[in-house]
Amino acid sequence: MYDYLIVGAGLYGSIFAYEAKKRGKKVLVIDKRNHIGGNLYTKEYEGINVHYYGAHIFHTSNKKVWDYINKFATFNNYVNSPIANYKGEIYNLPFNMNTFNKLWGVITPSEAKEKIEEQRKKYYKENPINLEEQAINLVGTDIYEKLIKGYTEKQWGRDSKELPPFIIKRLPVRFTYNNNYFNDLYQGIPNGGYTKIFEKLLDGIDIRLSTDYFVNKEFFDSIATKVLYTGPLDQFYDYQYGVLDYRSLRFEHEKINTENYQGNAVVNYTDKETPYTRIIEHKHFEFTESKTTIITKEYSVDFEKGMEPYYPINDQQNQEKYQKYFELAKEESKYLFGGRLAEYKYYDMHIIIEKVLERIEQEFER
Ligand code: FAD
Repeated sequence: MYDYLIVGAGLYGSIFAYEAKKRGKKVLVIDKRNHIGGNLYTKEYEGINVHYYGAHIFHTSNKKVWDYINKFATFNNYVNSPIANYKGEIYNLPFNMNTFNKLWGVITPSEAKEKIEEQRKKYYKENPINLEEQAINLVGTDIYEKLIKGYTEKQWGRDSKELPPFIIKRLPVRFTYNNNYFNDLYQGIPNGGYTKIFEKLLDGIDIRLSTDYFVNKEFFDSIATKVLYTGPLDQFYDYQYGVLDYRSLRFEHEKINTENYQGNAVVNYTDKETPYTRIIEHKHFEFTESKTTIITKEYSVDFEKGMEPYYPINDQQNQEKYQKYFELAKEESKYLFGGRLAEYKYYDMHIIIEKVLERIEQEFER
């Protein structure tokens, strides 16, 4: 008999498993995928660690979280500085003085502010009714047309005029020549890839891969006192209140016989016509030197039940549905729920670590 069955070998499940084992608990981890690591999984290919489910850059300002993850990896000094490719024109992201200089030839912050203000004022809408109006209110027309419109429409699979304004609450605009995407105190990529972290977290723990909990739920429930479930909450309750909606992604990995394909780890394609949203060139995350390279094209696709869920759609309808599932989950005593899927939220990795460490404290130390 196990003390804990953990459904999902992602970040949430694996840290929980590690901490439970440390406290003398007997743990079994299962995952329906054929590997550990969840969406952080990296696979080495000819010396390059491929971020299998999209670019993952660790960043946090929480020293406790940073110290915790550093017990399992050494991080390099990678700084996330993506670029945008709009019909062959290259712009720095996040929107900063380099971007504005390229767009308008402006040199000083006050010139850039003046330009943005001029464009915002011209089309300002007191009560924006869609994403387009909201974005123009925030940053004006040029940034919107070249760097937001096409990318956002591909991401959501809808025209910006049909998207609600709340999707873009704020757009960070920076009046310095600083291309560092994150404002956090700490950031980097684990040397050797993320999978190594999971090998350490799950060392000495029973694991069954390619094992779907729902194919044998009764059996798995019977062999553990408690179950931590990190999969989708609607599936746990057999979709009784309906399917929670997501955006899904499709990744196309490709080996290319060139040393350096695009000169940067992440390039966003911000026009509408290019079918993918970005291209990742993995070797730049770890400054790997090799004769060939591996790139991944990332496509945003409509979600259907049974597909990989990636980005929750946090509109009112889905939130109400989730709330109903949450009410059921709250009453459970055998089952614990956690992670991005069970909580139906987009969480960066550092937030997952904060959350699971809190949960561990509740479970074992109160
Ligand atoms: P997951 O990693 O999804 O783990 C859940 C696991 O449960 C999965 O392995 C799944 O197979 C398993 N499972 C589900 N159902 C079952 C079942 N029925 N039976 C058995 N197993 C099951 N965060 C950052 O901080 N920086 C980034 O740069 C970043 N980039 C991202 C890019 C993309 C494209 C996406 C989608 C996310 C990104 N994130 C990033 C967020 C990061 O991926 C999450 O914080 C993290 O993966 C959440 O971990 P988790 O354990 O909650 O979920």
